[in-house]
Amino acid sequence: MPKSVRPLIAGNWKMNGLGASLAEALTLAEALTEIPANARVALCPPFTLIGRMATALKGSTVEIGAQDVHPQASGAYTGDIAAAMLADAGATLVIVGHSERRTMHGETDADVAKKVEAALASGLEPIVCVGETLEERKSGKAEAIVCGQIEGSLPKVLEGRAFSVAYEPVWAIGTGLTPSNEEIVAMHAAIRAAIVDRVGETGRKAAILYGGSVKPANAMEILALPEVGGALVGGASLKAADFLPIVRAI
Ligand code: PEP
Repeated sequence: MPKSVRPLIAGNWKMNGLGASLAEALTLAEALTEIPANARVALCPPFTLIGRMATALKGSTVEIGAQDVHPQASGAYTGDIAAAMLADAGATLVIVGHSERRTMHGETDADVAKKVEAALASGLEPIVCVGETLEERKSGKAEAIVCGQIEGSLPKVLEGRAFSVAYEPVWAIGTGLTPSNEEIVAMHAAIRAAIVDRVGETGRKAAILYGGSVKPANAMEILALPEVGGALVGGASLKAADFLPIVRAI
């Protein structure tokens, strides 16, 4: 990956985890007194665990992120959560535009861009997710789709701000399938160009994470690919015993 990029390995717990799961986060943090390759490590638990995890991991190397944020700062949005609330609870990062939000909640690129703006306004660092479906890949449209998502989901206000982009092919999430190394390399190069096109030189510092069935067994190979600046990990981030070897593969 380019020298200007600081790698990030983030775990997305999705709708998993109760109070007892904090033990996994603590095990991870205790093992990571130092993180290799100047990398950053984050866990993104469900909203209910952010505050407790922030307290439990205070002073550790592990950062805490949320999995979504509402574009508005406050108001009559029952069941939603504002960026200032996440920051207040102890989150410093937030995932936006995950494919599960895009498909199950109908989020558009424009919605994602507004969420990014809301995150930045409260000092949260966004991790913006993009990725093609299997049908889009099979029809040769993957790069066009993903670069279109970048253009629509990255607001110009990102210029000068810290953020990362996660490339997560929809068909690779939770399936055990991954793209070939060549496909990952080509897509990450296309994403870098699209990011720089959109937000200028700031875009050279953004880590481009790969996400989709990253496991201890494939992490080292994927993380060594050019322009892969870390990983967004779902299932394998729930247990410290799985997530630690992925972090150590950076
Ligand atoms: C994800 O949903 O962000 C993800 C990458 O999931 P998994 O690692 O389980 O494929």
